[in-house]
Amino acid sequence: MITEEALHQLFTSISEKSTMTFIGRCLSCGNKIKIDITRTTRGFGFEGGMLFDVTPDECFVKCIDCYQKWRKGS
Ligand SMILES: [Zn+2]
Repeated sequence: MITEEALHQLFTSISEKSTMTFIGRCLSCGNKIKIDITRTTRGFGFEGGMLFDVTPDECFVKCIDCYQKWRKGS
């Protein structure tokens, strides 16, 4: 999973707004998903899925369902 530090860097380098949108294919099920990440005073809010990593070419994401399964360890 992406670190808060990396997210801070992304927000600093990519977006001057408080929201960023990433589109990618879920690492587990392959569905195309869109994730909105909002920067708040308390940290980061994720909507639509979870961001694992970002490279200049690709976003590594998981949809909510797969992320919850992954967190449970199954
Ligand atoms: Zn999935």
